[in-house]
Amino acid sequence: MDHPLVQHKLSLMRNKEASTNSFRRLLNELSMLLAYEVTRDMPMQEVEIETPLEKTKVKVIDGKKLVFVSILRAGNGILDGMLSVVPGARVGHIGLYRDPKTLTAVEYYFKLPQNVEERDLIVVDPMLATGNSAIAAVERLKELRPRSIKFVCLLTCPEGVAALQKAHPDVPIYTAAIDRQLNDHGYILPGLGDAGDRMFGTK
Ligand code: URA
Repeated sequence: MDHPLVQHKLSLMRNKEASTNSFRRLLNELSMLLAYEVTRDMPMQEVEIETPLEKTKVKVIDGKKLVFVSILRAGNGILDGMLSVVPGARVGHIGLYRDPKTLTAVEYYFKLPQNVEERDLIVVDPMLATGNSAIAAVERLKELRPRSIKFVCLLTCPEGVAALQKAHPDVPIYTAAIDRQLNDHGYILPGLGDAGDRMFGTK
């Protein structure tokens, strides 16, 4: 997403001097803009209503409520902003931790709403780095046969995009930026550091 507001807010977040408070606020604002973009092609239906003056046909969003699926814990930082734009959305959580040695994803929590097969899922995680968590999350979600899956992050790198696209070519990726590269510890360069630590103030 190359919108100036998105790029400006992301630039402020990258600065290591940004406080936890401002990092969190910017993430919240950016999440609203990401939600706006990722829902752009949601199906609509026509319904008849009555304005104070006459009957008319208007468009409303079609189908069952969509589901934001947060990859814990950093995904939760995106949820509030997205829910303020789509307040009726359902929320799922997937807990995956990254094994520090192998950098692979290990599942420890999984909770989704009912009737996933009739719903569109939007998986959220601020950082698409190695792609291991995203790949594992999407694999797990596909077992429930949702109507569609999209992936939204704040920041990614060529390695992350390539890995997720290779494993799940049917899942579109929405991001505010594709940075230069991944380092040996699985961090994005230049990046913004550990998104979870920065939003929750745990470091
Ligand atoms: N997760 C983060 O929080 N930051 C990175 O750079 C990579 C993965």
